[in-house]
Amino acid sequence: MRLLRDDALESGDTRLGTRFWIFPQPPFIPGYEQPDRVWLPIPRDEIDPGPGDARMYVVDPLYDKEPYGFDRLPPFGGATLPPARPGPDRHFDNIAPNSRAFLAVHAYACAHFVLNVWQGYIGRPIRWFFDQTFPRLEIVAFVNWDNAQAGYGFLELGRSESDGIRRPYALNLDTIAHEVGHLILLSETGIPTTMSREADFFPFSEAFSDVVSLISFLHFDSAIDRLLRRTRGNLLLYNELNRFAETSPETQIRLATNFRRMSEVTREVHDRALPFIGAIFDAIVELYHRELVARDCADMRLLDIDLRHLEQDDFERFRDATAEAFSVKPMIFGLALRAARDAVGQALAASLRTIDPNMVQLGQAARAVIAAADGPAAAALESNFAWREIISFR
Ligand SMILES: [Zn+2]
Repeated sequence: MRLLRDDALESGDTRLGTRFWIFPQPPFIPGYEQPDRVWLPIPRDEIDPGPGDARMYVVDPLYDKEPYGFDRLPPFGGATLPPARPGPDRHFDNIAPNSRAFLAVHAYACAHFVLNVWQGYIGRPIRWFFDQTFPRLEIVAFVNWDNAQAGYGFLELGRSESDGIRRPYALNLDTIAHEVGHLILLSETGIPTTMSREADFFPFSEAFSDVVSLISFLHFDSAIDRLLRRTRGNLLLYNELNRFAETSPETQIRLATNFRRMSEVTREVHDRALPFIGAIFDAIVELYHRELVARDCADMRLLDIDLRHLEQDDFERFRDATAEAFSVKPMIFGLALRAARDAVGQALAASLRTIDPNMVQLGQAARAVIAAADGPAAAALESNFAWREIISFR
């Protein structure tokens, strides 16, 4: 008697999805040399070589391509490298990470992964803002250019270059997630048309995209696991005693753990976005502490004391208590961080439908996020937006 019907397993239920490799951080970052295997919820028979499907497709130009711009839009009409093909089982985890074809497959997997996370928070499929003209997003896997950009119908990935080494952005989840963040925002709010002079749409867009990147990164179990093991569960930031953030190998964490307030930034969009990003990250950490306390893994006083002005002995006491609890029940710490991540991600996603791209100011965006959050998350967001001078205390 055959207990398992191999043919059924093999030809199997293609509805289970399709396997890919994703590097949660680029493979040259220490500790992140190995990719994670992920299942994207797309049936195997709905992904063509490329890869491509009903939402997006990848092209890899054979010759150097000019970046898209106002007068240059997709679809790409030039010669391309052969499309990446799945293995005989129709999964895409057959392609060697050091091959050229891997760039296309990895970029596709990252873009889909991020889109899925945010569709999950929004609670329905996201319709591309350009879908009247282009039904599908075109991803250009490699452009010989030191930049990455998303625009009307496209996502193009260049490369960075330092010490003579070229590093394609197609291997960089952080960059791809940020660009997909721009596309998600425009798809949810619409394109600004007659923006008022005081509008903060562009700083908000940069802040939102960085948070999309941070929260998407925190959807990798391996990333949460590494972060918590390295810090032994201690994400306390506001102290020179804890330098975990600035030496953190994770780009998203370094960026999100800044100390800037609105009175300390310029009008330049990326600079002006920093306090908003910092407030979101701090709110996640605050909610994480709340979860830990509720689950008996941290000192109650963590919630009352001003963590930005912690004395050395308090800091050491918190750190030791956390480390001890972490050594006994690390799973609880993972649950706490996921709960905090989702409370904030959900609020941010739900806020988008109330945002007017022509008028939005950072304070209004912050109020919209607070209004979309539940009790403890709303309180954490409000106090952090206020500390950053994005809103005033009520
Ligand atoms: Zn950007």
